[in-house]
Amino acid sequence: MERLTPIIQRAPGRWQIATVIAIREETPSVKSFRLALPMWMAHLPGQHYDVRLTAPDGYRAQRSYSVGSSPLDEGEIELTIDCLADGEVSPYFHDVVEVGDRIEVRGPFASYFVWRGSEPGPVLLVGGGSGVVPLMAMLRHRRRVLPGAPMRLVYSVRGAADVIYGDELAGDPDVVLTYTRGAPDGWTGHTGRIDAELIAAAATGAMTAYVCGSNAFVESATALLLDAGLAPEWIRTERFGPSG
Ligand SMILES: Cc1cc2nc3c(=O)[nH]c(=O)nc-3n(C[C@H](O)[C@H](O)[C@H](O)COP(=O)(O)OP(=O)(O)OC[C@H]3O[C@@H](n4cnc5c(N)ncnc54)[C@H](O)[C@@H]3O)c2cc1C
Repeated sequence: MERLTPIIQRAPGRWQIATVIAIREETPSVKSFRLALPMWMAHLPGQHYDVRLTAPDGYRAQRSYSVGSSPLDEGEIELTIDCLADGEVSPYFHDVVEVGDRIEVRGPFASYFVWRGSEPGPVLLVGGGSGVVPLMAMLRHRRRVLPGAPMRLVYSVRGAADVIYGDELAGDPDVVLTYTRGAPDGWTGHTGRIDAELIAAAATGAMTAYVCGSNAFVESATALLLDAGLAPEWIRTERFGPSG
């Protein structure tokens, strides 16, 4: 009798069971989770996965998380999750999930907030807090496939302890940090919220922008980018949540 070969389903809509293969603490409230996927497919930088948790009584909670890693990491994705103290899903990841755990995921999703490498350059990335995650996928992928392509990141964080991917971003001349609530000692760079001066300087020559963060962050950064002369159709935005 002929052996049936299992069909490998690679459609992004299918739920699959990922295995947590590494956990890295980024900040006191943010952790990155590297997942191995049995039905992995390459994502576009900027895309996200849905994650679903199921309680023993059948209750389910589902949230979206952007991929922070490059699609060149075959078979794996990395999600970076900010723990909201009163949240349902993010504290579970932060406090309960361990290496070896199995997590239900499906993706990758989205076709608008993606960097394909063919957009008009230079590219400006503007992130607030955990909004840096999909932008990091773009930065990381660009480093590996188009290292000469101009791409700059403007990243707004509260304080020195809140810089996600701090080690990787440190010393990168294309990264502009601003601290909104307290800069480290000796800091001579920008402080306070992203403003017209900071955006105008960073946006010089930029043709395409990606903005990601809270609703309020995205609203104000987009207005500043329009004032700086970027065309509305080349400003792509992603909103993570309600707070400012
Ligand atoms: C496309 C997309 C990609 C996302 N990618 C990421 C990512 O890479 N990393 C990440 O940490 N999050 C990301 N998020 C947000 C994530 O989906 C959840 O909303 C977040 O983790 C909160 O879920 P929770 O169950 O812990 O909190 P909930 O139980 O859903 O909410 C708890 C409380 O926090 C408020 N709240 C909900 N979301 C936020 C938020 N983002 N910021 C502030 N307050 C909020 C709620 O109004 C509520 O009061 C993304 C969201 C979208 C839509």
